[in-house]
Amino acid sequence: MYRKNAWKQYDKDEMQKVMNYAEEYKNFITFGKTERLFAKKSIDLLKKNGFKNIDETKDLKVGDKVFAVNKNKNICAFIIGSRDIEDGLRILGAHIDSPRLDFKEHPFYEKEEFALADTHYYGGVKKYQWVTIPLALHGVICKEDGTVIDVNIGEDASDPVLGITDLLIHLSKDQMAKKLSEAITGENLDVTLGNIPIEGENKDAVKLNILKLLKDKYGVEEEDFLSAEIEVVPAGSARDFGLDRSMIAGYGHDDRSCAYSSLTALLEVKDVEYTACCCLVDKEEIGSVGATGAKSLFFENTVAKVAELMGKSSPLFAARIAMENSRMLSSDVSAAVDPLYLSVSDKKNAAFFANGLVINKYTGARGKSGSNDANPEYYAWVRSVLDNNQVCWQNAELGKVDQGGGGTIAYILGNYNMNVIDAGIPVLNMHAPMEIISKADLFEAFKGYISFLKA
Ligand code: MN
Ligand code: MN
Repeated sequence: MYRKNAWKQYDKDEMQKVMNYAEEYKNFITFGKTERLFAKKSIDLLKKNGFKNIDETKDLKVGDKVFAVNKNKNICAFIIGSRDIEDGLRILGAHIDSPRLDFKEHPFYEKEEFALADTHYYGGVKKYQWVTIPLALHGVICKEDGTVIDVNIGEDASDPVLGITDLLIHLSKDQMAKKLSEAITGENLDVTLGNIPIEGENKDAVKLNILKLLKDKYGVEEEDFLSAEIEVVPAGSARDFGLDRSMIAGYGHDDRSCAYSSLTALLEVKDVEYTACCCLVDKEEIGSVGATGAKSLFFENTVAKVAELMGKSSPLFAARIAMENSRMLSSDVSAAVDPLYLSVSDKKNAAFFANGLVINKYTGARGKSGSNDANPEYYAWVRSVLDNNQVCWQNAELGKVDQGGGGTIAYILGNYNMNVIDAGIPVLNMHAPMEIISKADLFEAFKGYISFLKA
């Protein structure tokens, strides 16, 4: 159903399903605020649904369910189809990293009797959006003896929250005259940690007190933060948004809304003809690089492992053939039309809330540069799958020509010569600490992804 308002299609029962699905999603992203936490929650869900770790699997046959985990941040899960794996897979791929602020390796310092933590932002952020809001810390500290300590501060109602200060309006004459992009500098996105000095010290007494608190709580020294991954993210739960509760306000809808709907779509299907796959990757917001990003060999190697466990004598070659014959939806969010900022969109080719799953034939910037630009033959097939299954869907590109742009993981999988198209959920406030999506779009994406895996 192309460009139909999804809310108008629902009867009372369906409306309840949409609302229930949104509840489960809100719980999931409230916990899964980092790629590690999202991966952890996903593994729990996969296990609960009968998926086995591929490392503990001796062979694979039709109907088997397996998953593989890469460095706690990157997962792929499969349901083995009745066809030969070389006939290709049906792949849903989403990313589970989101823009945020990371502690530097050496974060702690003291200034004017405040202890602060130095950060370096991760991904594309409008820096002014990250000051004067409650922030939480999540992550791990890895010690030389091999222990890994989980950090979680700022989510429990009894926890303190952290934050970044901004200048009061009364003294902001110079700051207010600056461009938005320059008014808050990256180097100034430093988190305030405390103000009480430790007894018996004259220099850096406040910082030393904070380090003592951290040592008491986690058993770590300042040097241990060199090998830590501490992510500063918005504190608090995902919430219903709007008086009619039609939307969800939360951190990290990009791209955890698509990751969640893709993963749960995989859990929903059985007896598939083509091997169904959901791949959740890290590092998309900084270019899909590194061992856990979409450009890593992990996915290809895992498909080869699946082929080997299915008895293929040349599993690497089988994996290449399988990739080439695969079809993929790159499940990533789209920019929704904002009624307050209409000038950046071409409304004929823009995504609207509650109009369902958004297909992006291409993304990119300045003449589609860096985009996957899906083949129309494949696009036609995707249209038929969505329309035959009564999924609400729409098309969009990222804003007017030369207004800006962006990218997804689509082109990376496209390099395997598989058919890929971007298909995701429209978002308002993308990359802000509080992003907004429509519950109807979340549900239509879920429906769309299920239809795709079965097609
Ligand atoms: Mn994204
Ligand atoms: Mn993004």
